[in-house]
Amino acid sequence: MDIQKIRSEFPILERRLYNRPLIYLDNTATSQTPDSVVKAIVDSYTTTKANVHRGVHTLSQEATELQENARRRVKEWINAASTSEVIFTRGTTEALNLVASSFGGMMLGEGDELILTVMEHHANIVPWQLLRDRIGFTIRVVPVTEDGQLDMDVYRGLFNDRTRLVSVCHASNVLGTVNPVKEMIAYAHSHDVPVVVDGAQAAPHLHIDVRDLDADFYAFSAHKMYGPTGVGVLYGKEKWLEKMPPYQGGGEMIESVSFEKTTFAELPYKFEAGTPDFIGISALSKAIDFMDALGVENIAAHEHELLEYTTRRMTEEIPGMRIFGNAPGKCAIISFLVGNIHHYDMGMLLDKLGIAVRTGHHCAQPLMHALGVEGVVRASFAAYNTLEECEAFIAALKRVTAILEG
Ligand code: PMP
Repeated sequence: MDIQKIRSEFPILERRLYNRPLIYLDNTATSQTPDSVVKAIVDSYTTTKANVHRGVHTLSQEATELQENARRRVKEWINAASTSEVIFTRGTTEALNLVASSFGGMMLGEGDELILTVMEHHANIVPWQLLRDRIGFTIRVVPVTEDGQLDMDVYRGLFNDRTRLVSVCHASNVLGTVNPVKEMIAYAHSHDVPVVVDGAQAAPHLHIDVRDLDADFYAFSAHKMYGPTGVGVLYGKEKWLEKMPPYQGGGEMIESVSFEKTTFAELPYKFEAGTPDFIGISALSKAIDFMDALGVENIAAHEHELLEYTTRRMTEEIPGMRIFGNAPGKCAIISFLVGNIHHYDMGMLLDKLGIAVRTGHHCAQPLMHALGVEGVVRASFAAYNTLEECEAFIAALKRVTAILEG
Protein backbone atom coordinates (compact mmCIF):
# COMPACT_ATOMS: atom_id res chain seq x y z
CA MET A 1 0.00 0.00 0.00
CA ASP A 2 1.17 3.51 -0.82
CA ILE A 3 0.71 5.07 2.61
CA GLN A 4 1.62 8.58 1.52
CA LYS A 5 -1.04 8.44 -1.19
CA ILE A 6 -3.55 7.13 1.34
CA ARG A 7 -2.64 9.92 3.75
CA SER A 8 -3.19 12.53 1.07
CA GLU A 9 -6.86 11.50 1.06
CA PHE A 10 -7.20 12.49 4.74
CA PRO A 11 -6.66 16.26 5.06
CA ILE A 12 -7.10 16.09 8.85
CA LEU A 13 -3.76 14.26 9.06
CA GLU A 14 -2.07 17.50 7.99
CA ARG A 15 -3.19 19.21 11.17
CA ARG A 16 -0.64 20.34 13.69
CA LEU A 17 -1.20 20.33 17.43
CA TYR A 18 1.03 22.35 19.76
CA ASN A 19 3.33 22.99 16.82
CA ARG A 20 3.79 19.31 16.09
CA PRO A 21 2.26 17.08 13.45
CA LEU A 22 -0.89 15.32 14.63
CA ILE A 23 -0.31 11.61 15.22
CA TYR A 24 -3.75 10.06 15.37
CA LEU A 25 -3.72 6.78 17.31
CA ASP A 26 -7.31 6.76 18.52
CA ASN A 27 -8.67 4.80 15.58
CA THR A 28 -10.53 2.31 17.74
CA ALA A 29 -12.76 5.11 19.00
CA THR A 30 -13.30 6.47 15.50
CA SER A 31 -11.23 6.46 12.36
CA GLN A 32 -10.69 9.44 10.10
CA THR A 33 -12.66 9.95 6.91
CA PRO A 34 -11.22 10.13 3.39
CA ASP A 35 -12.11 12.86 0.87
CA SER A 36 -14.23 10.46 -1.18
CA VAL A 37 -16.61 9.95 1.74
CA VAL A 38 -16.72 13.65 2.61
CA LYS A 39 -17.34 14.49 -1.04
CA ALA A 40 -20.24 12.03 -1.19
CA ILE A 41 -21.82 13.81 1.79
CA VAL A 42 -21.28 17.27 0.29
CA ASP A 43 -22.58 16.09 -3.10
CA SER A 44 -25.73 14.71 -1.53
CA TYR A 45 -26.37 17.94 0.36
CA THR A 46 -25.68 20.07 -2.69
CA THR A 47 -27.41 18.01 -5.37
CA THR A 48 -29.79 15.32 -4.13
CA LYS A 49 -31.14 16.13 -0.68
CA ALA A 50 -34.73 14.94 -0.52
CA ASN A 51 -36.48 12.56 1.83
CA VAL A 52 -36.27 8.92 0.84
CA HIS A 53 -39.16 6.56 0.03
CA ARG A 54 -41.71 9.36 0.10
CA GLY A 55 -41.84 11.36 -3.06
CA VAL A 56 -42.50 10.58 -6.67
CA HIS A 57 -40.34 13.57 -7.52
CA THR A 58 -36.93 13.13 -9.08
CA LEU A 59 -34.79 14.26 -6.15
CA SER A 60 -36.55 11.88 -3.78
CA GLN A 61 -36.11 9.04 -6.22
CA GLU A 62 -32.41 9.82 -6.58
CA ALA A 63 -31.92 9.99 -2.81
CA THR A 64 -33.77 6.69 -2.40
CA GLU A 65 -31.63 5.14 -5.11
CA LEU A 66 -28.44 6.27 -3.33
CA GLN A 67 -29.62 4.78 -0.05
CA GLU A 68 -30.71 1.50 -1.59
CA ASN A 69 -27.46 1.26 -3.58
CA ALA A 70 -25.65 1.53 -0.26
CA ARG A 71 -27.79 -1.27 1.13
CA ARG A 72 -26.83 -3.46 -1.83
CA ARG A 73 -23.17 -2.51 -1.30
CA VAL A 74 -23.34 -3.50 2.39
CA LYS A 75 -25.14 -6.72 1.54
CA GLU A 76 -22.32 -7.73 -0.85
CA TRP A 77 -19.62 -6.54 1.54
CA ILE A 78 -20.79 -8.74 4.40
CA ASN A 79 -22.17 -11.47 2.13
CA ALA A 80 -25.74 -11.28 3.46
CA ALA A 81 -28.27 -13.41 1.62
CA SER A 82 -30.56 -10.48 0.85
CA THR A 83 -30.92 -6.72 1.26
CA SER A 84 -33.91 -7.49 3.53
CA GLU A 85 -31.33 -8.54 6.10
CA VAL A 86 -29.47 -5.20 6.11
CA ILE A 87 -30.99 -2.70 8.55
CA PHE A 88 -29.54 0.77 8.87
CA THR A 89 -29.22 2.12 12.41
CA ARG A 90 -27.44 5.01 14.10
CA GLY A 91 -24.54 2.75 15.00
CA THR A 92 -23.57 -0.45 16.78
CA THR A 93 -25.16 0.76 20.00
CA GLU A 94 -28.57 1.25 18.41
CA ALA A 95 -28.22 -2.04 16.53
CA LEU A 96 -27.53 -3.93 19.77
CA ASN A 97 -30.38 -2.15 21.57
CA LEU A 98 -32.65 -3.17 18.72
CA VAL A 99 -31.63 -6.83 18.98
CA ALA A 100 -31.81 -6.91 22.76
CA SER A 101 -35.19 -5.25 22.92
CA SER A 102 -36.89 -6.98 20.00
CA PHE A 103 -35.16 -10.36 19.66
CA GLY A 104 -34.13 -10.65 23.31
CA GLY A 105 -37.65 -9.77 24.39
CA MET A 106 -38.94 -12.58 22.18
CA MET A 107 -36.37 -15.23 23.14
CA LEU A 108 -35.73 -14.67 26.84
CA GLY A 109 -38.15 -15.42 29.65
CA GLU A 110 -37.90 -15.51 33.41
CA GLY A 111 -35.32 -18.04 34.56
CA ASP A 112 -33.63 -18.23 31.13
CA GLU A 113 -29.94 -17.57 30.56
CA LEU A 114 -27.99 -15.27 28.26
CA ILE A 115 -24.23 -15.68 27.71
CA LEU A 116 -22.01 -12.58 27.40
CA THR A 117 -18.25 -12.25 27.83
CA VAL A 118 -16.24 -10.16 30.25
CA MET A 119 -14.61 -8.26 27.38
CA GLU A 120 -17.87 -6.76 26.11
CA HIS A 121 -18.26 -3.05 25.47
CA HIS A 122 -21.01 -1.46 27.57
CA ALA A 123 -23.10 -1.35 24.37
CA ASN A 124 -23.29 -5.14 24.54
CA ILE A 125 -23.98 -5.29 28.26
CA VAL A 126 -26.35 -2.52 29.28
CA PRO A 127 -29.13 -3.15 26.70
CA TRP A 128 -29.31 -6.75 27.97
CA GLN A 129 -29.39 -5.62 31.59
CA LEU A 130 -32.26 -3.25 30.87
CA LEU A 131 -34.14 -6.21 29.44
CA ARG A 132 -33.11 -8.49 32.29
CA ASP A 133 -34.50 -6.02 34.80
CA ARG A 134 -37.85 -6.21 32.99
CA ILE A 135 -37.91 -9.97 32.42
CA GLY A 136 -35.77 -11.58 35.09
CA PHE A 137 -33.32 -13.83 33.20
CA THR A 138 -29.73 -14.52 34.24
CA ILE A 139 -26.60 -13.19 32.53
CA ARG A 140 -23.67 -15.64 32.44
CA VAL A 141 -20.20 -14.27 31.68
CA VAL A 142 -17.26 -15.93 29.92
CA PRO A 143 -13.93 -14.88 31.51
CA VAL A 144 -10.62 -14.23 29.74
CA THR A 145 -7.32 -16.03 30.10
CA GLU A 146 -4.03 -14.36 31.02
CA ASP A 147 -3.21 -13.29 27.46
CA GLY A 148 -6.72 -11.96 26.82
CA GLN A 149 -8.47 -14.83 25.07
CA LEU A 150 -11.92 -16.09 25.94
CA ASP A 151 -11.85 -19.18 28.10
CA MET A 152 -13.54 -21.52 25.67
CA ASP A 153 -13.87 -24.36 28.19
CA VAL A 154 -15.91 -22.11 30.43
CA TYR A 155 -17.91 -20.94 27.41
CA ARG A 156 -18.87 -24.48 26.47
CA GLY A 157 -19.56 -25.36 30.10
CA LEU A 158 -22.08 -22.52 30.47
CA PHE A 159 -24.60 -24.07 28.10
CA ASN A 160 -27.59 -25.76 29.71
CA ASP A 161 -31.25 -26.22 28.89
CA ARG A 162 -32.06 -22.64 29.97
CA THR A 163 -29.52 -21.03 27.63
CA ARG A 164 -31.42 -18.99 25.05
CA LEU A 165 -28.94 -16.55 23.53
CA VAL A 166 -25.26 -15.62 23.20
CA SER A 167 -23.96 -12.12 22.47
CA VAL A 168 -20.24 -11.65 21.92
CA CYS A 169 -17.87 -9.14 20.36
CA HIS A 170 -15.96 -10.28 17.28
CA ALA A 171 -12.96 -8.22 18.44
CA SER A 172 -12.30 -6.53 21.78
CA ASN A 173 -11.91 -2.75 21.78
CA VAL A 174 -9.41 -3.01 24.65
CA LEU A 175 -7.50 -6.28 24.25
CA GLY A 176 -7.66 -6.40 20.45
CA THR A 177 -8.45 -10.11 20.76
CA VAL A 178 -10.26 -11.54 17.76
CA ASN A 179 -12.67 -14.07 19.21
CA PRO A 180 -13.29 -17.43 17.52
CA VAL A 181 -16.85 -16.41 16.74
CA LYS A 182 -17.33 -18.96 13.97
CA GLU A 183 -16.51 -21.75 16.40
CA MET A 184 -18.60 -20.13 19.15
CA ILE A 185 -21.57 -19.83 16.81
CA ALA A 186 -21.27 -23.45 15.66
CA TYR A 187 -21.21 -24.59 19.28
CA ALA A 188 -24.19 -22.43 20.24
CA HIS A 189 -26.13 -23.63 17.20
CA SER A 190 -25.49 -27.23 18.20
CA HIS A 191 -27.57 -26.30 21.28
CA ASP A 192 -30.13 -24.43 19.14
CA VAL A 193 -28.95 -21.14 20.62
CA PRO A 194 -28.69 -18.11 18.29
CA VAL A 195 -25.71 -15.73 18.46
CA VAL A 196 -25.48 -11.94 18.22
CA VAL A 197 -22.08 -10.58 17.18
CA ASP A 198 -20.88 -7.08 18.03
CA GLY A 199 -18.63 -6.43 15.04
CA ALA A 200 -17.79 -2.79 15.84
CA GLN A 201 -14.06 -3.52 16.14
CA ALA A 202 -13.87 -6.26 13.54
CA ALA A 203 -15.45 -4.43 10.60
CA PRO A 204 -12.52 -2.01 10.16
CA HIS A 205 -9.90 -4.78 10.12
CA LEU A 206 -11.40 -8.08 9.02
CA HIS A 207 -13.23 -9.44 6.03
CA ILE A 208 -16.75 -10.02 7.35
CA ASP A 209 -18.77 -12.88 5.90
CA VAL A 210 -21.95 -13.26 7.92
CA ARG A 211 -22.99 -16.41 6.10
CA ASP A 212 -19.64 -18.10 6.58
CA LEU A 213 -19.79 -17.18 10.29
CA ASP A 214 -23.45 -18.23 10.33
CA ALA A 215 -24.10 -15.28 12.67
CA ASP A 216 -27.73 -14.70 13.53
CA PHE A 217 -27.07 -10.97 13.98
CA TYR A 218 -24.02 -8.84 13.26
CA ALA A 219 -23.69 -5.16 14.21
CA PHE A 220 -21.15 -2.50 13.21
CA SER A 221 -20.63 1.27 12.94
CA ALA A 222 -19.63 3.23 9.84
CA HIS A 223 -17.54 5.80 11.72
CA LYS A 224 -14.98 3.20 12.80
CA MET A 225 -14.40 2.07 9.20
CA TYR A 226 -13.56 5.37 7.49
CA GLY A 227 -17.24 6.23 7.12
CA PRO A 228 -19.55 8.94 8.43
CA THR A 229 -20.80 9.31 11.98
CA GLY A 230 -24.38 8.46 12.87
CA VAL A 231 -24.72 5.36 10.69
CA GLY A 232 -24.52 1.71 11.57
CA VAL A 233 -25.68 -1.61 10.28
CA LEU A 234 -27.55 -4.46 11.84
CA TYR A 235 -27.44 -7.64 9.83
CA GLY A 236 -30.04 -10.20 10.90
CA LYS A 237 -31.12 -13.51 9.46
CA GLU A 238 -34.42 -13.07 7.67
CA LYS A 239 -35.99 -15.97 9.55
CA TRP A 240 -35.52 -14.02 12.81
CA LEU A 241 -36.28 -10.55 11.49
CA GLU A 242 -39.59 -11.78 10.08
CA LYS A 243 -40.67 -12.99 13.52
CA MET A 244 -39.41 -10.04 15.55
CA PRO A 245 -41.63 -7.15 16.62
CA PRO A 246 -40.60 -3.64 15.50
CA TYR A 247 -38.17 -1.81 17.78
CA GLN A 248 -39.38 1.74 17.17
CA GLY A 249 -42.63 2.94 15.70
CA GLY A 250 -43.21 5.84 13.34
CA GLY A 251 -43.15 6.75 9.69
CA GLU A 252 -41.52 4.52 7.08
CA MET A 253 -41.96 1.32 9.10
CA ILE A 254 -45.69 0.85 8.51
CA GLU A 255 -47.87 -0.60 5.82
CA SER A 256 -51.12 0.90 7.07
CA VAL A 257 -52.17 2.76 10.21
CA SER A 258 -55.50 3.23 11.87
CA PHE A 259 -56.31 3.83 15.52
CA GLU A 260 -57.58 0.28 15.70
CA LYS A 261 -54.72 -1.53 14.02
CA THR A 262 -51.39 -0.89 12.38
CA THR A 263 -49.64 -3.26 10.03
CA PHE A 264 -45.93 -3.08 9.40
CA ALA A 265 -43.78 -2.58 6.34
CA GLU A 266 -41.81 -5.42 4.84
CA LEU A 267 -38.16 -6.01 5.74
CA PRO A 268 -35.90 -4.21 6.28
CA TYR A 269 -38.14 -1.12 6.61
CA LYS A 270 -40.05 -2.62 9.54
CA PHE A 271 -36.97 -1.77 11.61
CA GLU A 272 -36.24 1.65 10.12
CA ALA A 273 -38.71 4.04 11.73
CA GLY A 274 -38.44 7.71 10.82
CA THR A 275 -36.22 9.51 8.35
CA PRO A 276 -32.94 7.65 8.22
CA ASP A 277 -29.56 9.34 7.83
CA PHE A 278 -29.84 8.65 4.13
CA ILE A 279 -26.92 10.95 3.29
CA GLY A 280 -24.65 9.20 5.77
CA ILE A 281 -25.89 5.83 4.56
CA SER A 282 -25.03 6.58 0.96
CA ALA A 283 -21.60 7.85 2.08
CA LEU A 284 -21.02 4.54 3.90
CA SER A 285 -20.88 2.86 0.51
CA LYS A 286 -17.94 5.15 -0.37
CA ALA A 287 -16.17 4.07 2.82
CA ILE A 288 -16.63 0.47 1.74
CA ASP A 289 -15.26 1.39 -1.71
CA PHE A 290 -12.25 2.93 0.03
CA MET A 291 -11.54 -0.22 2.05
CA ASP A 292 -12.24 -2.47 -0.91
CA ALA A 293 -9.84 -0.57 -3.16
CA LEU A 294 -7.03 -1.04 -0.63
CA GLY A 295 -8.09 -4.58 0.29
CA VAL A 296 -9.04 -5.35 3.89
CA GLU A 297 -6.28 -7.97 4.05
CA ASN A 298 -3.71 -5.35 3.00
CA ILE A 299 -5.00 -2.85 5.56
CA ALA A 300 -4.80 -5.53 8.27
CA ALA A 301 -1.29 -6.61 7.21
CA HIS A 302 -0.06 -3.02 7.35
CA GLU A 303 -1.65 -2.46 10.76
CA HIS A 304 -0.10 -5.68 12.05
CA GLU A 305 3.33 -4.57 11.00
CA LEU A 306 2.84 -1.36 13.02
CA LEU A 307 1.38 -3.33 15.92
CA GLU A 308 4.23 -5.80 16.13
CA TYR A 309 6.94 -3.20 15.72
CA THR A 310 5.47 -0.85 18.29
CA THR A 311 4.65 -3.60 20.80
CA ARG A 312 8.19 -4.99 20.62
CA ARG A 313 9.84 -1.59 21.05
CA MET A 314 7.51 -0.59 23.89
CA THR A 315 8.14 -3.84 25.74
CA GLU A 316 11.90 -3.86 25.21
CA GLU A 317 12.65 -0.21 25.75
CA ILE A 318 10.24 1.09 28.38
CA PRO A 319 10.74 -0.38 31.86
CA GLY A 320 7.52 -1.10 33.73
CA MET A 321 5.51 -1.47 30.50
CA ARG A 322 2.41 -3.65 30.92
CA ILE A 323 0.43 -4.51 27.80
CA PHE A 324 -3.10 -5.81 28.25
CA GLY A 325 -4.04 -8.37 25.63
CA ASN A 326 -1.45 -10.46 23.83
CA ALA A 327 -3.64 -12.93 21.98
CA PRO A 328 -2.18 -14.23 18.73
CA GLY A 329 -3.67 -12.52 15.68
CA LYS A 330 -5.08 -9.64 17.69
CA CYS A 331 -6.24 -6.40 16.04
CA ALA A 332 -3.91 -3.42 15.96
CA ILE A 333 -4.80 -2.16 19.43
CA ILE A 334 -2.29 -1.68 22.24
CA SER A 335 -3.73 -1.08 25.69
CA PHE A 336 -1.06 -0.42 28.27
CA LEU A 337 0.12 1.11 31.53
CA VAL A 338 3.62 2.06 32.61
CA GLY A 339 4.59 1.52 36.25
CA ASN A 340 2.31 3.51 38.50
CA ILE A 341 1.69 6.30 36.03
CA HIS A 342 -1.96 7.27 35.80
CA HIS A 343 -3.44 6.66 32.36
CA TYR A 344 -4.95 10.12 32.31
CA ASP A 345 -1.62 11.89 32.98
CA MET A 346 0.01 9.84 30.25
CA GLY A 347 -2.72 10.71 27.75
CA MET A 348 -2.61 14.42 28.60
CA LEU A 349 1.12 14.71 28.12
CA LEU A 350 1.07 12.67 24.91
CA ASP A 351 -1.58 15.07 23.62
CA LYS A 352 0.79 17.98 24.27
CA LEU A 353 3.22 16.20 21.96
CA GLY A 354 0.57 15.98 19.24
CA ILE A 355 -0.32 12.36 19.88
CA ALA A 356 -3.98 11.35 20.20
CA VAL A 357 -4.47 8.21 22.29
CA ARG A 358 -7.42 7.13 24.38
CA THR A 359 -7.36 6.84 28.14
CA GLY A 360 -9.86 5.52 30.66
CA HIS A 361 -12.10 2.49 30.98
CA HIS A 362 -12.98 2.37 27.27
CA CYS A 363 -16.63 1.58 28.00
CA ALA A 364 -15.52 -1.80 29.32
CA GLN A 365 -15.64 -1.42 33.10
CA PRO A 366 -16.24 -5.13 33.81
CA LEU A 367 -13.08 -5.93 31.83
CA MET A 368 -11.12 -3.25 33.70
CA HIS A 369 -12.31 -4.83 36.91
CA ALA A 370 -11.20 -8.28 35.74
CA LEU A 371 -7.79 -6.86 34.77
CA GLY A 372 -7.53 -5.22 38.18
CA VAL A 373 -7.10 -1.70 36.79
CA GLU A 374 -9.19 1.43 36.72
CA GLY A 375 -8.22 2.41 33.22
CA VAL A 376 -5.55 2.01 30.54
CA VAL A 377 -3.95 4.01 27.75
CA ARG A 378 -4.84 2.74 24.30
CA ALA A 379 -3.03 3.31 21.01
CA SER A 380 -4.66 1.90 17.90
CA PHE A 381 -3.73 1.94 14.24
CA ALA A 382 -5.43 2.41 10.89
CA ALA A 383 -4.45 2.21 7.22
CA TYR A 384 -2.93 5.70 7.19
CA ASN A 385 -0.57 5.32 10.18
CA THR A 386 3.15 5.04 9.47
CA LEU A 387 6.23 3.50 11.05
CA GLU A 388 7.58 7.04 11.49
CA GLU A 389 4.53 7.84 13.58
CA CYS A 390 5.19 4.74 15.66
CA GLU A 391 8.78 5.92 16.17
CA ALA A 392 7.55 9.32 17.27
CA PHE A 393 5.02 7.67 19.58
CA ILE A 394 7.69 5.50 21.23
CA ALA A 395 10.02 8.49 21.64
CA ALA A 396 7.15 10.49 23.15
CA LEU A 397 6.27 7.63 25.51
CA LYS A 398 9.86 7.57 26.78
CA ARG A 399 9.83 11.30 27.31
CA VAL A 400 6.48 11.35 29.06
CA THR A 401 7.42 8.37 31.22
CA ALA A 402 10.63 10.10 32.30
CA ILE A 403 8.69 13.25 33.22
CA LEU A 404 5.96 11.42 35.12
CA GLU A 405 8.30 9.08 36.91
CA GLY A 406 10.81 11.81 37.67
N1 PMP B 1 -18.89 -2.34 20.61
C1 PMP B 1 -17.57 -2.18 20.57
C2 PMP B 1 -16.68 -3.38 20.69
C3 PMP B 1 -17.04 -0.90 20.41
O1 PMP B 1 -15.72 -0.73 20.39
C4 PMP B 1 -17.92 0.20 20.30
C5 PMP B 1 -17.40 1.61 20.14
N2 PMP B 1 -16.34 1.95 20.95
C6 PMP B 1 -19.28 -0.04 20.34
C7 PMP B 1 -19.75 -1.33 20.49
C8 PMP B 1 -20.28 1.07 20.22
O2 PMP B 1 -20.22 1.65 18.95
P1 PMP B 1 -20.97 3.01 18.64
O3 PMP B 1 -20.56 3.97 19.71
O4 PMP B 1 -20.48 3.40 17.28
O5 PMP B 1 -22.42 2.73 18.66
